[in-house]
Amino acid sequence: MTQKIRTRIAPSPTGFLHLGTARTALYSWAYARHFGGEFVLRIEDTDVARSTQDSVDQILESMRWLGLEYDEGPIYQMQRLDRYKAVVDQLMAEGKAYYCYSTPEELDAVREAKKARGEKALYDGRWRPAPGKTLPPVPAGVKPVVRFCNPQEGDVTWNDLVKGPITISNREIDDLIIVRTDGIPTYNFAVVVDDWDMQISHVFRGDEHINNTPWQINIFAALGAPLPLFGHCPVILGDDGQKLSKRRGAVSVTAYEEGGYLPEAMLNYLARLGWSHGDEELFTRAQLVEWFDGTHLNKSPAQWDPVKLLWVNAQYIKQADNTRLAGLVAQQLTRQGITLDASVVQTHLPQVCALLKDRCDTTVALATWAAKFYADVTPDAAELAQHVTDAVKPALQALAARLATCTWDKASIAAAIKEVLAEVGLKMPQLAMPVRVLVLGTPQTPSVDAVLELLGREKVLARLGRA
Ligand code: GLU
Repeated sequence: MTQKIRTRIAPSPTGFLHLGTARTALYSWAYARHFGGEFVLRIEDTDVARSTQDSVDQILESMRWLGLEYDEGPIYQMQRLDRYKAVVDQLMAEGKAYYCYSTPEELDAVREAKKARGEKALYDGRWRPAPGKTLPPVPAGVKPVVRFCNPQEGDVTWNDLVKGPITISNREIDDLIIVRTDGIPTYNFAVVVDDWDMQISHVFRGDEHINNTPWQINIFAALGAPLPLFGHCPVILGDDGQKLSKRRGAVSVTAYEEGGYLPEAMLNYLARLGWSHGDEELFTRAQLVEWFDGTHLNKSPAQWDPVKLLWVNAQYIKQADNTRLAGLVAQQLTRQGITLDASVVQTHLPQVCALLKDRCDTTVALATWAAKFYADVTPDAAELAQHVTDAVKPALQALAARLATCTWDKASIAAAIKEVLAEVGLKMPQLAMPVRVLVLGTPQTPSVDAVLELLGREKVLARLGRA
């Protein structure tokens, strides 16, 4: 019988959903979908001091935005304390875990002494039971931690799905604390119980966890639990070659939503960052699921490239449905202080989006353009001086006069412009540039007849009247 493919993402709610975690979530999701398996969301909230409901909400919202729908969850670790306790009791009963009463001061002293001798600062095993060993007397008033009896010899080896074979000697690692003095299990223990109980077959996560994996593998073995396969994805680097972090720009998924990126563009960019399918740069979700089989994951860190992300986003904006774009642009406009009637968002704004989306790489940029259609425009004095010269003003007045009465559609507006050009003997750009500056505040706009048509007669005449 082949095992069902089950993957999971297990963020800690101590902040927003980081791009690195989002990418791992994406790989886990795509892997499960590719093999017809299941994808689980688990919230690792055992760091009680730092976990917040606000972070949980942000993580859920980011997952929803990216369309990473999960089949189970969110499962909260803090709701599973009884289960962890039962497993700890079992390990204790089997002599595979023990109470350790060493105080932080004692542990520090051991660490310092080991460092001074040039040894790795591992726990000295003082409370580890062994045949014939007499343990120190239990000190009064000290709450113990529970430690796992890590094997003291041998190696831990696994064939990492991303990095290939990895071996770490048990001599390099010590008896891990699995339950803190407050009774709450540590990450490395809870993660094993969960991955076991949730029948996770494949664990994708960031490579900062590689050093945790040997402990986890040893705990799986001690529990007699089947071992999942592990794939550790390299970190994402910022453009300075350092790990992508808050100081180096936006690292939360939500920041990109607010910044005017489309979720499908983010998904495409994140997937490609650390994985490839030939030379394909743009692919749909369906293609990603079809192609993503866990191979072709990069072993080395990828560099976050904001320019490429903008390019990818621009491609998706070009293809996006105008009514959908209008909804997104309306949200951005609200952030800019411009609120539109629902009827405008449904009918007029989609046309504005259609006209302008080719020149925009985010919906924020598109909103900045769209704003010119709904809020007043103040042309730059230098642009006015350069384009709206005395020589062209009579032509602008003649145009305004025609536009006051012509039929209001693109063809009639184009005809009015041509008639004025013929009448005053100017070339198209000589009239079109000042018109653009007056009505939209910039000489670079899409075709002037289309702009005027969408802007509407009333606004066009008012803005031309400022010449
Ligand atoms: N809570 C851990 C983290 O956010 C999960 C690591 C794992 O996937 O095992 O890094």
